Amino acid sequence: MNLRKLQVKFLVPFHRITIGNKAYKPHGDLLLDLEVVFCSVLKIRYDRFLFLMFILLILLIVMMPSKLVLIGGGHSHSVALLSWLHQSATLRHCPIADITLITPNAQTIYSGSVPGHLAGWWNQEACAVNVAALAEALGVKVVLDEAIGLDLAQQCIICRNHGAIGFEILSLDIGSTPQIPAMVSQRIIPMKPMGLLLNSLEPYLKLGLSETLPETRSMAIVGGGLGGVEVALSLKERLGNQLNLSLICRSQTIAPSQSKAIQTLLTQELKSQSIRVYFNTAVNSVQENTNGVNLILNSGEYSSNLSCDVSLWATQATSPQWIRDSGLRTDDRGFVLVDSTLRSVSHSNIFASGDIATIQTTPRPKAGVFAVRQGTIIGHNLRRSLANQSLQVFKAQSRYLNLISLGDRRAVANYGEFSITTKPIQPLLWHWKKTIDDSFVSGLNLR
Ligand SMILES: Cc1cc2nc3c(=O)[nH]c(=O)nc-3n(C[C@H](O)[C@H](O)[C@H](O)COP(=O)(O)OP(=O)(O)OC[C@H]3O[C@@H](n4cnc5c(N)ncnc54)[C@H](O)[C@@H]3O)c2cc1C
Repeated sequence: MNLRKLQVKFLVPFHRITIGNKAYKPHGDLLLDLEVVFCSVLKIRYDRFLFLMFILLILLIVMMPSKLVLIGGGHSHSVALLSWLHQSATLRHCPIADITLITPNAQTIYSGSVPGHLAGWWNQEACAVNVAALAEALGVKVVLDEAIGLDLAQQCIICRNHGAIGFEILSLDIGSTPQIPAMVSQRIIPMKPMGLLLNSLEPYLKLGLSETLPETRSMAIVGGGLGGVEVALSLKERLGNQLNLSLICRSQTIAPSQSKAIQTLLTQELKSQSIRVYFNTAVNSVQENTNGVNLILNSGEYSSNLSCDVSLWATQATSPQWIRDSGLRTDDRGFVLVDSTLRSVSHSNIFASGDIATIQTTPRPKAGVFAVRQGTIIGHNLRRSLANQSLQVFKAQSRYLNLISLGDRRAVANYGEFSITTKPIQPLLWHWKKTIDDSFVSGLNLR
């Protein structure tokens, strides 16, 4: 009924108004007076003026740029931003104006280059991608913060320091983190995020140079996947006898996703570096004491303790609690379920790529190679989604190349069931890996 009143209120002066030299008496409010002034100046009838305003309003709404928010500057979003930069001439014709990137740090770490840095072959700079510079070059607003919540009903992201940030389209590329014990301790270091790992390991990388740390330290790496093994071999290469290193592996073999030949070779490498491997062993609980941590191990029938200064956790990848609580449909490990276009299966305005996404029909291991390949597709699909165009499909390959660093400027290669472990080839494989990783990092860093 309010609407009717409104109509009456407007219709009355509407009929009485005649534009020209004849006077009329509109309602006394300022707005109508202004409208009348406009009508007189433009020399158009009042009803036409209203129609014109209506069309202008519709045009404004249609032309208003959609608000796209990217959370996380991982491998996928970095590649997406770079692809936008390459197409920036075309981008001007696309309504892609209001974009925000939320990232805790201006720089993100490329995992492929991390083992070489830990082994001492290059510094941290060589592993870093300045994702903030990439975003800013495109006019993307950068918010240096961490998302801690997602309110799907209100379409906003809750950030730790910046409060709520609204979105119309959202893209997640926040990686994954290993499962770690609930207790907070500086002696429990997760393998990811990589930036945190490198900061936490900084004092250990300076062993021997440091006056505050004793000469020899002990470390346990929990998790016998590729990440754990590569980090173990790299740290041992750098620190030698200064580091007593143990690797705790839940299964009866290390790197279970790799071929038998790679597993055998990696086991021999760990042995030759005096890294003690606990097979078929799980960490039941962790106690912190003044000197370090005590890991309570469970090896089938018997339990034992392992004391060390610090423990590195490279256990099964998992997603943050705020994603699980968000209402987005996820898999049983809490990763966002997406279709083959990387769009959430439950929310059509939300996309996810990299480790945080699981493609419902073709799930794949959490590996950087998929995150990188999805980067181009997510960049393409976000633009097409803003323009209401059809989306491109990501074709997930079933086999992929793994170049595995052995720490001392050697590497081995694995592709499905095939592997190259021949000794004379190992330095060449290491150079090949370095070339690929270096060109990826330098390609993403703007000069
Ligand atoms: C030691 C090691 C070596 C590896 N080597 C290889 C390899 O050689 N090849 C390979 O294929 N895979 C490798 N992996 C796996 C690879 O690291 C991951 O699969 C890859 O990093 C996933 O990329 P991503 O784009 O999903 O996210 P990431 O590259 O992990 O980036 C996620 C980003 O999101 C940010 N972020 C996280 N949470 C939030 C939040 N709440 N708000 C805002 N931002 C957030 C993080 O700071 C980070 O910058 C390795 C892993 C490890 C541990």
